[in-house]
Amino acid sequence: MCKKKNEKTIKKNIIENTMDQLIVRKKAPIFGYILLSLLYIAASAIISLTAGNQTLLNFGGNTIAVYAFAGVFAALSNIFIIFIVVYYRKLGFYTALIFTGLQLVTVLLGIFKQHNLSSLPGAFTNAFTFIAAIIIFVNNMRLEKFQERLCDQAVTDRLTELPNRFACSELLNELIRRNEKFAIVSIDLNNFKSINDTLGHNAGNAVLTEIAKRWKNAADTEESGTLDFVTRQGGDEFSLIIRNYRSDADIIRTIKYYEDVLGKRLTVDECDLFMTASFGYAEYPADAKTSDALFSCADAAMYEIKRINSSDHIMRFSPEMLKTEHTLEMEKKIRTALDDGKVFFKLQPQYDLSHKLRGFEALARIEDTDGQILNPSEFVPVAEKVGLIDKIDLIVFKASAEFFGRLIRETGADIMLSVNVSVRHLMKNGFLEEVKAIVDSCGVPARQIEIEITESVMIDSAEKALNCINEIKKMGLKIAIDDFGTGYSSLSYLSDFPADLLKVDKSFIDKMNASDSSKKYVAAIISIGHIMNFKVISEGVEEPEQLETLKSIGCDYIQGFLWGSPMMPEEAGRLVKNSINA
Ligand code: C2E
Ligand code: MG
Ligand code: MG
Repeated sequence: MCKKKNEKTIKKNIIENTMDQLIVRKKAPIFGYILLSLLYIAASAIISLTAGNQTLLNFGGNTIAVYAFAGVFAALSNIFIIFIVVYYRKLGFYTALIFTGLQLVTVLLGIFKQHNLSSLPGAFTNAFTFIAAIIIFVNNMRLEKFQERLCDQAVTDRLTELPNRFACSELLNELIRRNEKFAIVSIDLNNFKSINDTLGHNAGNAVLTEIAKRWKNAADTEESGTLDFVTRQGGDEFSLIIRNYRSDADIIRTIKYYEDVLGKRLTVDECDLFMTASFGYAEYPADAKTSDALFSCADAAMYEIKRINSSDHIMRFSPEMLKTEHTLEMEKKIRTALDDGKVFFKLQPQYDLSHKLRGFEALARIEDTDGQILNPSEFVPVAEKVGLIDKIDLIVFKASAEFFGRLIRETGADIMLSVNVSVRHLMKNGFLEEVKAIVDSCGVPARQIEIEITESVMIDSAEKALNCINEIKKMGLKIAIDDFGTGYSSLSYLSDFPADLLKVDKSFIDKMNASDSSKKYVAAIISIGHIMNFKVISEGVEEPEQLETLKSIGCDYIQGFLWGSPMMPEEAGRLVKNSINA
C-alpha cells in the first residue's frame, strides 16, 4: 500500500515538475555562486596586501608602485559583487551586503584607527557598490515578479484558473518524452451555448468556473482511482489526461466519475442546471505518437459522439473517425476559399475524332491558403456533404460563361461550354432562375451551353430532377450524362431521358484495350447512345491506341490528356484562336 502511494507521488511529480518548469525561471548554477564568492574573497585579500605597500616594481624600464594594483583589484571585486547580485537574486543580495559591509568596516577602521587616509576613495567605492547592489536587487525582484506573473498567465486559464491548452500540450510532450502510457480526453459541454443565450455570459462564466472547480477537486482527491490532470482548452472545451490505469475499463470508469461530478445539480442565478458533456478519448502510444495528433484523435472521437447524438456520452477514438476530422478541415478550406474568392476554373478541351475542337468542360479548382491547388476529387465530395457544392457550381458556371461570352464575341467561335452541376444543386429551389440569369447575362447562345449531370440523377432523384432538366432543355441548353456506365441506370429510363450527350466514364476507356470483351462493352455503350439519339464522348483518353479503338467503334468525341489537359482560360482562349486560324 505504502509502496503504491510512493509510486503515485513520484508519478504526480511529473505534473508538478512540468508546471514548475513552465512557471519558474531557470536558476543559475550554485557552483557559479561559489566561484564568484571565492574570486571576491581573493580580490579582497590582494587589496589588503597591496594597499599600503610603497615598494616600486620595474616593468621594462617603467616603475609602478605595488599599491596601484589595489585599485585594479578593488574594481574587479566590485564587478564580482554585481554579478552575484544579478545572478543569485536574494542569496546574492545578502552575500553582497555581508561582503561590502565587511569591507566597509575594514576600510573605516583603517581610516579612523590607523589614520590611513589613502583608504578614503576605497570607502566611497564601497559605499557606491553597496547602493548599486540595492538598486539592482530591487529592480531584479520587480522584474522577476512581473515575469512570473506573465509565465503564470501563459499557462493558466484566466477564467477558471485551470492550466490551459499550452500547459496541457507541454505535459503531453513530457509524458511522451518519458514514453509513459496515458489517455487524453477531449470534453465538450453539451448545450452550453443555450446557457449563454438564455442566462447571459456571466451565468455561462459561473457555470464554467464551477465545473472547473469540481473537476480540479476530483483530480486532486484522486477518487477516480487514476492520476488525472484537468485543463481548459477554451470556450466550453476541457481536456483530461488520465495516467496510471490498467485497462480501457479503468479509463471509462474515470471518465464516468467526471461525468457524475459534472452531472450534480448546479445552481446559477437561482436556476438549477444539470450539465452533460461529450467525452472523446485517445491513448498514447496506441492511437498517435505526437501531442497534436493525440488532440486531433480525441477531438475526432468527441465530435463523433456528438454527431451520433447517443445517450452514452463517451467514445474511444478509431481511425475511421479521422475522416470526419478530414471533412471538417476540408469544409474550412472550402469556406475560406469561397470567402476569399479562391474558387476558379480550368477548361479541358473536347475534340471530334478528326481533331476539330468541339468545346471545353469547365472544371472547378480551389486555391488553398498555402497556394496549393486542390482538385475536385478532394473537395467535391465534402462540398456535396456539407451543402456548399451549389456555391462552387455557380461560381464556375458564372465565371466560365462570362469568359466564354467574351471569347465568342471576340472570335465568333461555334464551340460548346460544358459545366458540371451536382444533383443536390439541381434539386434545389431557385436553380432554374440561377441558370436563366447566367445565360441571359453572359452572351453565350443557350445552345452552346451544356449542363453535365451524373448518371446518379436517374436513380435517386426521380420526377423533380426530370422536370428541372426538361425546363433547362426548354431554355435551349444541352444536357450531358456524365460518368456514364458507373451507375445502374436502366435502359428504359435512359430512353426517356432528354439528354444530348453521353460521357463514357474513364474507367471503361482505361481497360478498353485490355480484352476483346471490354472493347465490345464500350462499343455497345456507344451503339446504345446512338440508338437513343445521343452523341457519345469518351473521357480520359490518354493513349493513341485508345484513340484508334474509339475511331474504329464509332465514338463521336473525345476528352483526355492525349489531346488536352485542363488549362487556364487564357490558354484555352489561345487554343480557340489558333484553331480558327488553322
Ligand atoms: P468529370 O466531370 O468526369 O471531369 C473529368 C475529370 O477527368 C477531370 O478531373 C479531368 O481533369 C479528368 N481527366 C480528363 N482527361 C483525363 C485523362 O486523360 N486522364 C486522367 N487521369 N484524368 C483525366 P477533375 O477536374 O479532377 O474533376 C473531377 C470531377 O469533379 C469531375 O469529373 C466532376 O464530376 C467534378 N467536378 C469538377 N468541377 C466541378 C464543378 O464545378 N461542379 C461540380 N458539381 N462537380 C465538378
Ligand atoms: Mg464532367
Ligand atoms: Mg466524367
